[in-house]
Amino acid sequence: MGRTTVEVAAPRTAAIYLRISEDREGRELGVTRQQQHCRQLAKRLGVKVVAIFTDNDISAAAASQKERPEYLRMIRDAKTGLFGTIIAYTSGRLTRAPREFEGQIDLARNHGVLFQFVASPSFDLTTSAGRMMARMMAAKDTGEVEDISERQSDRKQQLIANGEWTGGRRPFGYDDDGLTLRPAEQERGLDAAKRLLAGDSARSIFTEWNVAGMTTTAGGPWDGSNFRQMILRPRNAGRVGKIPPGTKDFRKALDKLPKSRWPPLFAPDDRQAAEDTWVALMIKMTDPTRQKNGGATSLVLVGSHLYTCWCGSIARSGGTTASKQSRYMCKGGGHTRLAGPVDELVRAVVCARLDSQGVRLLPKTGDREPLLKRLALLKARAEEAAALFGDPESGFTAEQLKVTNARLKPKIEEVERELAQLADGSALEGIADAPSPSAAFLAKGIERQRVIIGALVEVTILKAPRGRRDFDPETVRIVPRPRPA
Ligand SMILES: [Zn+2]
Repeated sequence: MGRTTVEVAAPRTAAIYLRISEDREGRELGVTRQQQHCRQLAKRLGVKVVAIFTDNDISAAAASQKERPEYLRMIRDAKTGLFGTIIAYTSGRLTRAPREFEGQIDLARNHGVLFQFVASPSFDLTTSAGRMMARMMAAKDTGEVEDISERQSDRKQQLIANGEWTGGRRPFGYDDDGLTLRPAEQERGLDAAKRLLAGDSARSIFTEWNVAGMTTTAGGPWDGSNFRQMILRPRNAGRVGKIPPGTKDFRKALDKLPKSRWPPLFAPDDRQAAEDTWVALMIKMTDPTRQKNGGATSLVLVGSHLYTCWCGSIARSGGTTASKQSRYMCKGGGHTRLAGPVDELVRAVVCARLDSQGVRLLPKTGDREPLLKRLALLKARAEEAAALFGDPESGFTAEQLKVTNARLKPKIEEVERELAQLADGSALEGIADAPSPSAAFLAKGIERQRVIIGALVEVTILKAPRGRRDFDPETVRIVPRPRPA
């Protein structure tokens, strides 16, 4: 991004713009450090710093409305040709509102001024593509951009912004350059992702790898932690950087990361598909029901966190009876039921459905296409709105932007939910199309069985009459779930 514009035409003189403000970056990264960083960047760019402008935004809440005298003076001086480059720590330091950004575009187009930032990407404002990108950045919450830059060291941040690898140990699936795929490892990684999505446990996969003598790139065995770290890295989706802890909206978080210069491991030729896989995997791997009692292998009973109790509460593994028989106990009311007969019945119903419907249970391959198209369209609309807002001639107001976003957000979320459901349907691949679907199902581990059951039926444990000893199938309600049409 920024790099190429610099190498093509860097004017000889530059101004540095510094701003101290109430936000975290402004407080923590005082003017002195901002200036140091900007001077270093100037040196790298080979430009001479001829002026420094500093605004202080700390005073009062009205600051956002207040004019910045030094900023305005700098714009004036730039127009007279006193300097050809303006350097700031981040684009957020320079631009507080999308509106101000138009003044910068004018400087770039009519006066050939370049903008360079220490810790955010620079765009060539003399091209329409560059302006479009920069407008979108400016229309976004600048706070988000600044937050990211705070967490990274400065040099690293620059590399990340440019989509480059920040170095370190060889990443699994790639050569030492971090860019070139190693086909054998890439296939393994992609296969692991598919199996996880289909319901296999992480443990079953990395145990296989260990048995096959396949080590981590450090030469050690795989375990739950290094496997998880490897499979969930944004690198696999063709993005650079990290997802902040506590993230709930994985798609949004991923969108904020710069695109990588290396091909995504999950789909080297299709970035969208790689991102979809990654998002589905994040949702799956952070599913709270997988983490109860310490990890993916903790599901003792196949219906744990899957069946519903008659009281409406979710059923979980509830220890054993005096005669050592496993039982379900609902979370809310503590109602218990022997697990064996219930699971046997549920498995029988699922087997019958698998054998009778077979491949018809599989999601059609074309199912994802219209959803992906719709998602792309909705996102394009959101971006269009942001771009309109950045263009003062459009008359598009902040209020209109807010309304548009509020309308688009639930639609985008709905499509993403549907895509996730389709990923669930993929649990049936290799099962519903097996020579004997029921045998293939029963041969699978408890994790995978659980996903398949959840995809095919809805199970409710009904209230059983007291005192009855033998199992009455009438006390379990099993309703088939409709398959994607
Ligand atoms: Zn209950």
